[in-house]
Amino acid sequence: MEVPSCFQVNEFAVSLLSNFVLPVAWEVKIMDNPLSTQFDQGIRPCIDLIDSLRAFGVDKDIGLPAIAVIGDQSSGKSSVLEALSGVSLPRGTGIVTRCPLEMKLKNVKKDDVWKGKISYGNYTNEISSAARVEGEIIQAQNTIIGNRLGISKNLISLEIESSNVPDLTMIDLPGIARVAVGNQPHDIGDQIKKLIKLTIQKKETINLVVVPCNVDIATTEALKMAQEVDPSGDRTLGILTKPDLIDKGTEVSVVNVMQNMVVELKKGYMMVKCRGQKDINNQMIMSDAILKEKEFFEGHEHFGHLLEEGKAGIPCLAARLTKELVAQITKTLPELRKEVERKLDESLKSFKKYSYVVPTSDTEKIPFIIEKLNQFCTHLKRLTSGEEPQDKINGMRYITCIRKEFEDWKLILSDSETKVQELMNDTINKYEASYRGRELPGFVNYKTFESLIKNELSQLERPAIEKLKIVTEITKTIFMKIAEQHFSAFCHLLKIAKVKIATIAQQQKCEAEKLLQNQFKVETVVYSQDSHYSKTFGKLRSQGSSKNYASIQEMSFHLKAYFKIVSSLLADQIPKVIWCYILNEFSDKLWVEMLQIIQEKNCINKYFLEDEDTQRERETLKCKIDRLRKAQNSLLVFG
Ligand code: GDP
Ligand code: MG
Repeated sequence: MEVPSCFQVNEFAVSLLSNFVLPVAWEVKIMDNPLSTQFDQGIRPCIDLIDSLRAFGVDKDIGLPAIAVIGDQSSGKSSVLEALSGVSLPRGTGIVTRCPLEMKLKNVKKDDVWKGKISYGNYTNEISSAARVEGEIIQAQNTIIGNRLGISKNLISLEIESSNVPDLTMIDLPGIARVAVGNQPHDIGDQIKKLIKLTIQKKETINLVVVPCNVDIATTEALKMAQEVDPSGDRTLGILTKPDLIDKGTEVSVVNVMQNMVVELKKGYMMVKCRGQKDINNQMIMSDAILKEKEFFEGHEHFGHLLEEGKAGIPCLAARLTKELVAQITKTLPELRKEVERKLDESLKSFKKYSYVVPTSDTEKIPFIIEKLNQFCTHLKRLTSGEEPQDKINGMRYITCIRKEFEDWKLILSDSETKVQELMNDTINKYEASYRGRELPGFVNYKTFESLIKNELSQLERPAIEKLKIVTEITKTIFMKIAEQHFSAFCHLLKIAKVKIATIAQQQKCEAEKLLQNQFKVETVVYSQDSHYSKTFGKLRSQGSSKNYASIQEMSFHLKAYFKIVSSLLADQIPKVIWCYILNEFSDKLWVEMLQIIQEKNCINKYFLEDEDTQRERETLKCKIDRLRKAQNSLLVFG
C-alpha cells in the first residue's frame, strides 16, 4: 500500500487535494462523493459558501454544516488544532478557550504569503504573522468576556490563508472542565457543557471528539456528551491523541478502540501524535512535529498499520476532515436552501406588522392615526355583527358564544315554567285542604295565582342580569385582545384603548342592567290583552287532559297560558337589550371615543410613539431578513 505522499510537510495541503493518493478504503468512499470528480476545485467554493453564511450570522437562524471540536481539558484539543492550522493557540492550565473559536483555514498556492484575520462583533483585524495569532485570540477573549472568569457564546472568527493548511473550517469549543478552580464561577462546568451542547446537538454538525490514548475512553466526558446528542454515532469522529504516552501493555485495547470495537462510531476513529510539552518548550516547529509524527507511526509495533489504513497522522486527519466537511455540506445543501426560504418567508410575514412607518410630520400623522383607529373599530364592528370568523374564544366564534348564552337563557325560562307549575300544584292542594269553602272547583283565589306568577318572574331577574354580565365580560375580553393585535406597537395607545374598553363596558352594562330591572318591574303587572290571553288559554285547554281535579287543571291552564305569553316575550326581550347595549352600542361608543384621541393634540405624539420593545423587535427582524436574503442570494449564486 502506498503511503500518502503528503508528508512533504510544506506542501501537504496542496498535495492532499490534488495528487493525494488515498488508501484504498478511502478511495471507494470518495468515489461515492458527488464532488469526487472535481474534488479540488469544488472544495473551496463549498466551504466558502457556508463560511459566508456563518459570517452573515445565519447560524443564529439555521443549523449550518460545521466541524466542532470538543474534548476534556488537556485531552490535546489545542495541540490537534495547532497542528492542523499551523499556528500557536493560547495554552495554559484552566479554561483557556473561553469563547467558541471559528477557524477558517484556506489553502492557497505555495508562493502566496501567510495571511490572517480575526473578527468578532464589529471588530476585524488583519494579523501579519502566525506568531501573533495567539495574542490576538487572548485579546479577543478579554474584550468579549472582560475580566470575568466565565465563558461566552460569542464567536471569535479566525481566518488563515496559507499553503500549509488544509481547506477546512472548524469550531473550537472550550474544554470540558470537571471542577471549578480558583475564582471561576462554581457552575463553570455546566456553563461549558451548555455552550458545547448548543453547537454539537445540531444535526448539521460533525463532532470531533478528542480523547487521549492514556485514559479510559469510556470515562471521558466529551465522548459521553457526543453520544448523548448523537446516540447512533452517525456524525461523530473520534480522535485519539498522545499515543506516545500510552501505558505499556494497553496498546491492544487502544487498537480495539480504533477498530470501533469499544465505543462504536459510524465515522470511526483516527489517531494523531502532536507536540508534547517538551517539544513545545524546545520550540519545535510544526512541520518538524509532523515529520516526527510520521516517524513515530512508521514501523510502530501496534499502530503502524493505522498509517497504511489512512487512520493516523495529522495530514490524513486534515484530508479526512476536508472530505467530511464537503460531504456534509453537499448533503445538507438542499435542506439548507429550503430552510432559508422557509425562515425568510416566516420572517417576512412577521415583519408585516412592523412594515408601516409612523409619519413624523403633523399633516401626515393625523390621517395615519385616523386610519389606524378606524381599522381597529371596523374590526370590532365586524366582530359584533358576526362577520369576523377569525377571533375565537376557546375555539368558538365570538358570535356563536353569545348565541349560546342566549339559548341558555331560553332554557332557564322553561325550567322556571316547570317549577312554577309544581309550586302551583302544591299551593292549590294546600288551598283545597285548608281554605276551600263553597266555591265550585276552579274558583281559586286570584291573588294566589297572581302572587305565584309575580314571585316566579321576580326570580328570573337575577339570571337575566347574570347573562348580561357574562356577555359583557366576553365582549370586553375579546375587544382587549383585538386592541392588542392592532396597537401592539404602541403601548401608550394600547393602554388608553384598554381603559376606554373597560370604562365603556361598565357604562353599557349599567345602562342595560337598569333596563332589565325595569323590564322585571313591569312584569310585576300581570296583564295580557283579553283576546291574546283567551286564545292561548283556549288552545292549551283544548290540548289538555282532565285527570286532575277540575280546580287544579283549570288553574294550571291559566298559569301555563300566562307564563307562555310572558316567557316568549322575555326570551327575546332580554337578549335584545343585551345585544343592543353590549354588541351594538359598545363598539359604536368606543369608536367615537377612540376618534376623540385626535382632539388631544398634545397626547398624539405620546400615543403614537413606538415603544422600545417594538423598535428593537423591528430592528432584529430586519437584520434577520437581511441576512437570510444574503444567504438566499449566496445559495442562488452557488448554483
Ligand atoms: P487541551 O487542554 O485539550 O487543549 O490540551 P493541550 O493541547 O493543551 O494538551 C495538553 C498537554 O498534552 C500539552 O502539554 C501538550 O503538549 C500535550 N500533548 C498533546 N498532544 C500530545 C501528544 O500527542 N503527545 C504528547 N506526548 N503530548 C501531547
Ligand atoms: Mg486547549
